[in-house]
Amino acid sequence: MDKTEFKRCFSRRLAEKFAMEVSDASPNELYQTLGSLMTSTYSQNWQQTWKDYREAGQKQAYYFSIEFLPGKMLKSNLLNMGWLEMVSEGLTELGISLDDLAEVEPDMALGNGGLGRLASCFMDSIASTGLPGNGNGIRYEYGLFKQRFVDNYQVELPDEWLQKGNLWEVRKESKAVDVRIGGDVYLSEDGFGNLTPNYQGGMLLRAVPYDTGMVGYQNDIVNTMRLWSVEISPEEEDRYRSIGDRRAVEDLTSVLYPDDSSEAGRKLRLSQEYFFVSAGVQSILRYYKQLNKPMDEINQYIAIHINDTHPAMCVAEFMRLLIDQEKMGWERAWNLTQEVMSYTNHTIMAEALEKWSIDMMKSVCPRIYQIIEEIDRRFVEEMTGVHDFDLIQRTRVIQCGQVHMAHLAIIGSHSTNGVAKLHSDLLKSVVLHDFYLLYPARFNNKTNGIAMRRWTQLANPALSNVLDDTIGDSWRKNPSDLRLLLNFEEDDQVLEALADAKWENKKRLATYIEDHCGIKVNSNAIFDVQIKRLHAYKRQLLNLLHIIKLYLDLKENPDLPIEPRVFIFGAKAAPSYHYAKSIIKVINETASLINQDDSINNKLKVVFLANYNVSLAERIIPAADVSEQISLASKEASGTSNMKLMLNGAVTIATLDGANVEIRDAVGDDNIAIFGLTESEVYQYYENRSYSSTDIFKNDAVVYKVVKTLVDGTIPNIISEGQEIFDSLIKYNDEFFVLRDFGDYCLAQESINQAYQDKRRWRQISLRNIANAGRFSSDKTVQRYADDIWQIEPAFAHEDDRGVTQHDTYLF
Ligand SMILES: *Cc1c(COP(=O)(O)O)cnc(C)c1O
Repeated sequence: MDKTEFKRCFSRRLAEKFAMEVSDASPNELYQTLGSLMTSTYSQNWQQTWKDYREAGQKQAYYFSIEFLPGKMLKSNLLNMGWLEMVSEGLTELGISLDDLAEVEPDMALGNGGLGRLASCFMDSIASTGLPGNGNGIRYEYGLFKQRFVDNYQVELPDEWLQKGNLWEVRKESKAVDVRIGGDVYLSEDGFGNLTPNYQGGMLLRAVPYDTGMVGYQNDIVNTMRLWSVEISPEEEDRYRSIGDRRAVEDLTSVLYPDDSSEAGRKLRLSQEYFFVSAGVQSILRYYKQLNKPMDEINQYIAIHINDTHPAMCVAEFMRLLIDQEKMGWERAWNLTQEVMSYTNHTIMAEALEKWSIDMMKSVCPRIYQIIEEIDRRFVEEMTGVHDFDLIQRTRVIQCGQVHMAHLAIIGSHSTNGVAKLHSDLLKSVVLHDFYLLYPARFNNKTNGIAMRRWTQLANPALSNVLDDTIGDSWRKNPSDLRLLLNFEEDDQVLEALADAKWENKKRLATYIEDHCGIKVNSNAIFDVQIKRLHAYKRQLLNLLHIIKLYLDLKENPDLPIEPRVFIFGAKAAPSYHYAKSIIKVINETASLINQDDSINNKLKVVFLANYNVSLAERIIPAADVSEQISLASKEASGTSNMKLMLNGAVTIATLDGANVEIRDAVGDDNIAIFGLTESEVYQYYENRSYSSTDIFKNDAVVYKVVKTLVDGTIPNIISEGQEIFDSLIKYNDEFFVLRDFGDYCLAQESINQAYQDKRRWRQISLRNIANAGRFSSDKTVQRYADDIWQIEPAFAHEDDRGVTQHDTYLF
């Protein structure tokens, strides 16, 4: 299609759909029209891709994740279709701005943060590298809550993202399956010596899939993200007549749990987990049976990935279908299950290691519990005599009346991976050490990555243009080519062009800040950014204390030689996470105080942008000068915003945590500001129980002065929140070593201040960060999963001379 044809098609489609002309249409009508033109175009490739996989009998991977966080899809799909430029220009000629039109799309936010965003980056990359891989998840009626500030407190509003429909999804009624939740089960002999389960009571629910095309980057491949929605099955209509009964069913896929680390221990959440696991695994088996291959060979055609522990019941559900439905013997079924399954661990935080009480599991999925019991019994039997008693007791799936989901995932799969080198090492040496002793060969690392296309080409066109002009456009397909930029680190023209692009992005963000917060910020100031979920371990508090220190210093001496800075926060707190919400309140009140204080010569501004989500990330990241990655060492499994910010030329100030370690290795010590305790120092403190925050508070005058402001009235309106945070630091011994790292952090911040004052040096550091970011492309990450874990290969693919995988239908 060319531009002229596009304009004709677009106008015709608008007339067909809405019977109107371009000049009369609302942005939403224009958006619906463009979207419908796109989906009707790529649906041929979608069907073809599926047919190709099926006919080639290709092994396929299924990525089970309780969260996906794609954000807006319009521009990403346009880019991947190769339509972005054509459509943008064509629309301009019709008097329409693509950006205005794209604003209409609600963010698809079926995830909390990093976990869901990783799943979506993987979906993009799996399609873009031509790999046969699909997503499997839940179609929540309400995504992650919308955040607003009222009196500087977080207020949560429901995210009604489906209100105007969702043009990317297709409801596939013909692919529905039934899922049983609750009730009782007993086993009976079927006359051939087999035990068959008999179910009584409970609810038989219809799981209806909504499929969304995952369009690969200019390779004609379209994979599928399948999200399940609950419905009342037609046969059961009579049972669910009352509104209350219907509500009980509909609740199941109604809301995403807004807590990204600790499990509330709620029955509904467990039901959600079993629902999408059972629906997904059933539909995979149904597909496999259509291939007419022996059930014994399913491991050669299917790989199932368990993204964090929420889908860990895949292990037991797969067993259930093989033994109950396919009448396979336990041992054969178990071997196949282990070969099909693989698992990624995402956290070492104890409160996020999922456990469910036996009673609750029995009440939600009684047959699954029986199978887990048998898995546990056989595990103990197999290990007894081989390993010592205590080790076996510590690694069992069922312990102290609880089912340990990570244990189930590890025992029932052939691969367990962490998400950054440091994290994977910690799994082996500490968190999952016992399992490492049992199954050393199962452990491996797969450092996270990001979909480069979204975070440069879409989010940062200004930078993308400079890159094209400087090193050509091969980086768009092959992000390793960003390294070519290193040839220009002494080229003042290139340094200037990069700085200009950054400045343009900063001006654009400054406008957004003024429009949304009414705060005027100086685009020449350092834009210092911390964007991520609000969590004690991520230490937004450390950032805040440093801001307070700068403020006190400036009050004492308004002529202090510091570069003007704008501190920018974006973060949602889980609605039930009281402490995190108090931090938000205190940051907001501190911001009000500082932003209204004329005596500090506009050297300091603090901005907390509400409702951090993927679209806001796309706005903030290109404008960032400094990337705050300051979690307590050992606590952040990987992080991915650290990668996005680096790619956009921000300079990282970081602890040696998660993937920050690999970023440091990539750019070298001179191009990053590292500070703080190392992971082994943190563990030393744990071992010796020797940390005393009170000692630091009493002996360090700066710490004393800064921490006091939380309770002495310096910051208005924070009587209870200030006290709560003060107590966490002093009374409860500062769980995340904020005070211990404070001094070192201030020095690192001072080094940032110094570096920024030397414009040329700063620009060179920024250039080196961009140039070295290619290794964090999720295209590479998924390729490693495909090679090492899933054993899948691109369909109909060949390697072209640049090492880029391309789709080539004519080969077949
Ligand atoms: C990348 C991203 C995250 C993850 O951020 P971390 O700093 O790695 O925790 C969370 N939310 C959104 C919207 C993102 O785009």
